[in-house]
Amino acid sequence: MGYQTTNPYTNEVLATFDTATPAQIDAAIAAADAAFRSWRDTPLPERLAVLDRAADILQAGRRDYAEVLTLEMGKLIAEAEAEVDLCVDMLRYYVRNAPGLLTPRFLRAAGYGDTDVQLVPEPQGVLFAVEPWNFPYYQVIRIGAPQLAVGNTLVLKHASMVPQSALRMVSLLAEAGGEGLITNVFASHDAAEQILADDRVRGLALTGSEAAGASVAAIAAKNLKKSTLELGGADAFIVLEDAELDKAVNWAVFGRHWNAGQVCCSSKRMIIVDPLYDEFVDKYRAGVARLVAGDPMDPATTLAPLSSRSAVDELAGKVRAAREAGVTVEEVGEPVPEQGCFFQPTIMTDIPVGSPTANAEFFGPVSSLYRAADEDDAVRIANSSPFGLGGSVFSADIHRAQRLARRLDTGMVFINQPTGVAAEIPFGGVKRSGYGRELVDLGLKEFVNEKVIAVTDIDGAF
Ligand code: NAP
Repeated sequence: MGYQTTNPYTNEVLATFDTATPAQIDAAIAAADAAFRSWRDTPLPERLAVLDRAADILQAGRRDYAEVLTLEMGKLIAEAEAEVDLCVDMLRYYVRNAPGLLTPRFLRAAGYGDTDVQLVPEPQGVLFAVEPWNFPYYQVIRIGAPQLAVGNTLVLKHASMVPQSALRMVSLLAEAGGEGLITNVFASHDAAEQILADDRVRGLALTGSEAAGASVAAIAAKNLKKSTLELGGADAFIVLEDAELDKAVNWAVFGRHWNAGQVCCSSKRMIIVDPLYDEFVDKYRAGVARLVAGDPMDPATTLAPLSSRSAVDELAGKVRAAREAGVTVEEVGEPVPEQGCFFQPTIMTDIPVGSPTANAEFFGPVSSLYRAADEDDAVRIANSSPFGLGGSVFSADIHRAQRLARRLDTGMVFINQPTGVAAEIPFGGVKRSGYGRELVDLGLKEFVNEKVIAVTDIDGAF
């Protein structure tokens, strides 16, 4: 399928775009490289002024930007507005913090004076950003804000179902005075070979599925280019016996169903210790049943359609496979509308740890519930996943929850909250959830050349 906007609530095809030719891709890389050459020499305060203006523009056009998201991938309008707000926060984070984070520092080394060895963070050039459709602006700004602050530029290959969101990110930067900082390409998958073989492209940042990560990172590696991968997840939502049950249930329902369940770090596996399990399941089922599927532009709607018909089909296939493998599968709530790409909320129980169902990522309103004998068993179940993105622990005892968090093999753990996506908190995982981090200083430094500049009197040194 080529690049097109299909409204997942009405199924209307609203716009289509031609896939880029090799010559167009070459021109895009040339433009991004030309932009890099002047951008890297632009004084940092001027670079940050562009990011600041981009934040102003997003803030002023909040509703207008948000509507594009709802139109292209169907998220609730309030969630779309929250995504725009988060982009503003990320841009402003770097406006505030990049000067401190990018200040060269001196290293103490034997035989050198205190200011003789410098570490100078320098940009490297054009990065290839491959991004998914589930947070069409957030994903671009999450990589874009730090990398543009550093002085790199981006060639963006966005998901084929959000072409207008991709174009809005390009025009946002241009309007803010950063023409060419993000160059969009409506590239085919095959084009990754051309892009990553090009010497002007210095790295790959990919957010998406394991399959995409493995495929595109292999091309980067073959061309000796660094990559960061933000991939899938099956985050555990652990509820200990001392947790406030209603609070845990409410946030579990939210954690699983925001963005229609299409979130890498959504709470996909509820792991409940035995004393609370039965009551949790009853209340969770009732909470899920209260979700209201409908028009994502209607503020009364609490369950959005999935992003596309193919997303519905793929999820249905995974649920069917689970049922055939003996997992207990229960559809919950009023039937979802027939119009649009809705998926009936589903709860799965009796899932053997280590089975294909337990190890899969369900990208939609499908919950996996596990009964754990105790805390140790909860950790065992949580860590049995091939993924290692995030997770959460609900307990009245914060110190106990923090100790448990240390035992989880993931990149992030949130206590008494399903997740905590924020501009000031780094994002990323381990295991099959990928490698590298985005945001804060960690993300800022992923594609920086930490250049050593050392001076000494070599004759006097020995
Ligand atoms: P996807 O199919 O992997 O697509 C992600 C991006 O990769 C899209 O731009 C896609 O292009 C491109 N792509 C896929 N295969 C490719 C290939 N072989 N060569 C070049 N490009 C390729 O993932 P998705 O379905 O859009 O997104 C859902 C997945 O992303 C889930 O697994 C989710 O957990 C993960 N995700 C992770 C994070 C995180 O930060 N860890 C955040 C959000 C989502 P096309 O659209 O043209 O196919």
